[in-house]
Amino acid sequence: MSSRPIESLLDERRVFAPPEAFANQALVNDESVYERARRDPEGFWARAAEDLHWFRRWDAVLEWTPPYARWFVGGRTNIAYNCLDRHLRSARRNKAAIVWEGEPGEQRVLTYWDLAREVNRCANALLALGVRRGDRVAIYMPMIPELPIAMLACARIGAVHTVVFGGFSAEALRDRINDAQAKVVITADGGFRRGQIVPLKRNVDHALAETPTIQHVLVVRRIGEAAAIHMVEGRDRWWHRALDGMGLDCPAEEMDSEDLLYILYTSGTTGKPKGIVHTTGGYMVGTYLTTKWIFDLKEDDVYWCTADIGWVTGHSYIVYGPLANGATTVMYEGTPDWPEKDRFWEIVERYGVTVLYTAPTAIRTFIKWGPQWPARHDLSTLRLLGTVGEPINPEAWMWYRRHIGGDRTPVVDTWWQTETGMILISPLPGLTTLKPGSATRPFPTIDAEVVDEKGVPVPPNTGGYLVLRRPWPAMLRGIYGDPARFQQIYWDRIPGVYFTGDGARKDDDGYFWLLGRVDDVINVAGHRIGTMEVESALVSHPRVAEAAVIGMHHEIKGQALAAFVTLKDGGTPDESVIEELRDHVAEKIGPIAKPDRVLLTAELPKTRSGKIMRRLLRDIAEGRVLGDTTTLADPTVVHSLRERYEEDAGG
Ligand code: ATP
Ligand code: MG
Repeated sequence: MSSRPIESLLDERRVFAPPEAFANQALVNDESVYERARRDPEGFWARAAEDLHWFRRWDAVLEWTPPYARWFVGGRTNIAYNCLDRHLRSARRNKAAIVWEGEPGEQRVLTYWDLAREVNRCANALLALGVRRGDRVAIYMPMIPELPIAMLACARIGAVHTVVFGGFSAEALRDRINDAQAKVVITADGGFRRGQIVPLKRNVDHALAETPTIQHVLVVRRIGEAAAIHMVEGRDRWWHRALDGMGLDCPAEEMDSEDLLYILYTSGTTGKPKGIVHTTGGYMVGTYLTTKWIFDLKEDDVYWCTADIGWVTGHSYIVYGPLANGATTVMYEGTPDWPEKDRFWEIVERYGVTVLYTAPTAIRTFIKWGPQWPARHDLSTLRLLGTVGEPINPEAWMWYRRHIGGDRTPVVDTWWQTETGMILISPLPGLTTLKPGSATRPFPTIDAEVVDEKGVPVPPNTGGYLVLRRPWPAMLRGIYGDPARFQQIYWDRIPGVYFTGDGARKDDDGYFWLLGRVDDVINVAGHRIGTMEVESALVSHPRVAEAAVIGMHHEIKGQALAAFVTLKDGGTPDESVIEELRDHVAEKIGPIAKPDRVLLTAELPKTRSGKIMRRLLRDIAEGRVLGDTTTLADPTVVHSLRERYEEDAGG
């Protein structure tokens, strides 16, 4: 890739060592953890597993027959037992497990005792519906406490959940139900989103016209009368009726460490979603320890991950990781701009949130809205911030630390995927010196490397493919029902290693800089340019809120760059800024990286998880038929962009 490292986009080379007070109180503040883990990776994970409850201890920590790993082989455990029962024996039984806020403003607090009771009742209700160990249950719900309750109830009886994000359409739900061959759907009459009712049950009804495997639907009453839904006799049941009179005790199934825990479909940023399979023991231990160490979780923390549970981030870092740690986890149903653009900061202030974990896309939106919104609230309880989902540009990182973290908190940029199940590259906040824009270093035992096509490590400051050379506990165990695709996507590309699909570079200190998807690295007149780098340059311009850069075919240069840019102020974009932006990129990176075309736009096409879908922008730029658009947040954005792009080219 180009010779200028991303650091050069910052005016000075800023680094942030852990503040002394933070380091002193941190769970991990001794560099030797890395070395010990390197010497004995299996012993490292065995020690973490010993914190948790096993019905039967494992015989071997790891069996590795590529591409399949088995962790804690022969061990028997139950992740719901570890998230609940384990805590009921101590004072934690009365501790808040879930602090929930609905979009209209209702509040609910479930202690560990409350949560265990509801999970047991739900588990018994599922058994009564005929759900058995190994059966698949689709969960299509708003962000209400019944969502984690349903997941934990499945896990308790050994059923496999597949959570489908509540923002998806009936078609997307239908396809996932059919792929997983689910027997039951758990849903709600609706949910609230930006003041509107999301008609979940109606979508389920549409989906179920073509899902032969579904026998029952369990419906939570979230909305009431206004939802105006229809219950199908014999098929549909109200949650509260089904749970009524159910026993408060449902024994946890003794699951094999390698039994399926869940299937989750990826967000579809790079293509058609894949049904990623996760199993029990390794996933439990991996999410338990990464949550504890990376978020430095203490008994009195109030931890809030703003993701939707429909994504892996919600599975691992709202539900399983925090609850396995006995933490207090905050859950919010709605959007950050309802009723005003300070809703998140109101929530932080109201519950005294100490650790906040969100996405770069959210941060860039907050930047667009301006710092006056967080400034209205007392955010002084925050002591640690995190991000995940996309590369975070240094400007956004700095804004986050300053306006949310009060120039005080460490920021952990965590790299991982649905497939990895757990965070793999991230700072340890009491130990790692931070560089804005870098996910820093692999978690202890994780063998990440940046390599070329043949799998040979590339020199420092050179871009390449990010790969993982050793198995890790929460790694995927396949694509559901498609072992050939599993082999082909992740293992055939570079011999002997797991291919992440992401580009990265390591700097002289061995820090990892994520560059986006490998198909987002392009070749302009013989120069390799990461589109992320150009985006980063664009966003460092004071007027730019967000940018997406892609490569398009060019007669002479082979490939050229096109940039789609959203401005901060939201006012009418004047076209004179376009030349200014092109010059700005030339100045920051070099004339070679100057985009051929810049299109100003109010919105960028994003997945439901908030990631920019560059592949659709490429389709637009190349005049191709649009690829899979089922996971787009707002399909109209891409169609109007296409029209404007073509008009702009014609004019
Ligand atoms: P699909 O695989 O269907 O295209 P997806 O890759 O967007 O969808 P996820 O598993 O939700 O689905 O996202 C994982 C990807 O998100 C990573 O491969 C990486 O590209 C990006 N990502 C996540 N965290 C970070 C981070 N901290 N820095 C840079 N990129 C990140
Ligand atoms: Mg992916």
